[in-house]
Order: sequence, then structure tokens, then C-alpha cells
Amino acid sequence: MIDHAAAREAMVARQIEARGIINPALSAALREVPREAFIPDSLAAFAYDDSPLPIEAGQTISQPYIVALMIDSAGVMASGRALEIGAGSGYAAAVMSRIADRVIAIERHAELARLAAARMARLGYHNVRIVHGDGSAGWPDEAPYDAILAAASGSHVPDALKAQLAIGGALVMPIGAAHVVQSLVKVVRVGEEAFEQEDLGAVRFVPLIGAEGWKG
Ligand code: SAM
Repeated sequence: MIDHAAAREAMVARQIEARGIINPALSAALREVPREAFIPDSLAAFAYDDSPLPIEAGQTISQPYIVALMIDSAGVMASGRALEIGAGSGYAAAVMSRIADRVIAIERHAELARLAAARMARLGYHNVRIVHGDGSAGWPDEAPYDAILAAASGSHVPDALKAQLAIGGALVMPIGAAHVVQSLVKVVRVGEEAFEQEDLGAVRFVPLIGAEGWKG
């Protein structure tokens, strides 16, 4: 019998806090969300491994450390509004929903969007909305966002996403082609027309496929 609660505690201590992400609200959210509920049953034994895992539709659930790094870097906060492009399993959106007031997460694969929405309903995470579609141009209906995460890699940061950031808000997104090492970039909107960009390091993500991303 796997002790998921103990594995979750160890994951937060060893993979997140020991690597320098000290963010009490985020640690509490990671302790609350059962990652085993976001992966195929056959992989439950690996739920708290320090790695991405395969999910349905040939996609992946990101490594817990990368999920934490993106949420921390984007400054997801209490009473804030967050957008994720590339909901995948829904895990990162679920973690953000334990911190922020409202989370919108967009996924291009219908099967993944359906599964993620069912997980949110089952877990009672009612402040998350899962949208099926191309999220490469964001979701203007509920903009502006205090934090935007793109969990798939594009050739550039779409202007449409920058325009949906609140002033003071931050966007975190991998930039680079598929199957090569990409750069995780952070863009902060410091004024109506002013943005500051920094590089957070090397990552590897699946491609962002859509109108403002790569061709499918
Ligand atoms: N954060 C997710 C999780 O916790 O499971 C992992 C996301 S996975 C690395 C990236 C996802 O982005 C894939 O499910 C893929 O289908 C999706 N994706 C790629 N391009 C997209 C687009 N234009 N709009 C919405 N989703 C997209």
C-alpha cells in the first residue's frame, strides 16, 4: 500500500524547499493536492517522483519542481486571478487554485480537458475553469490576470498574452523549438506599454501548438 500523504510531504521538503523555493502558500498547496489523482492509475507508484510522467493523449504532467518554480516565479497569490495555457492533467491548475481566487486553464486536447475538469469536480476545486481549445492567444474574457503560466513552448511570447497581464502581473513561459533545450522566461508588465523580461534557466516542454504557437 503506497503512503501518498507521506510521499507528498517528502516531495515538498526534498524537491521544492531544499532547492530554495520557500513559499509557504505554495508548499501548503502542494501538500494539499493529490498528484496521484492527475495521472493514469498504472503510474500511481511514481506520483511523487522527481520527474515528469506520461499522461493521456501522448502528453506529460510536468515535474513537481518545475510546476513549483513556475507558480512561484509568476507570483501566483491569494485573491489573484491566474491563467494557464496547456492544462494537461490539470495538476498545476489545481495547485494554483489552492492559492489564487480564480484559475482559468486551457487545453487543446479534448480528452485531457474533459479529464482535468472531472478531476476538479471530484476534488471540489470549484474556482478552476477548464476550457477546451487553443490557448495560445490566451482567454481575454476574464483578463487581466495577475499571473499567466504557459506549460508548452512557443517561438516567442505572444503579444496577446502580454496584453492580458495586469500591471504588476507576471507571465512565465518556455521559449524554443520542440525537442531541444528551451529557455524559461519571465515577463513582468511594469506599465501600460512596458515589460521587463528575465531568463529563469533551461527547461524542456512539449510545443505550444496553435495560432500564436507552432503549426500542428
Ligand atoms: N501543467 C500541466 C500539468 O500539470 O499536467 C502539464 C502541461 S503539458 C507539459 C503541456 C500541455 O499543453 C499539453 O497537454 C498540450 O496538449 C497543451 N498545449 C499545447 N499547445 C496548446 C495550446 N495552444 N492551447 C492549449 N493547450 C496547449
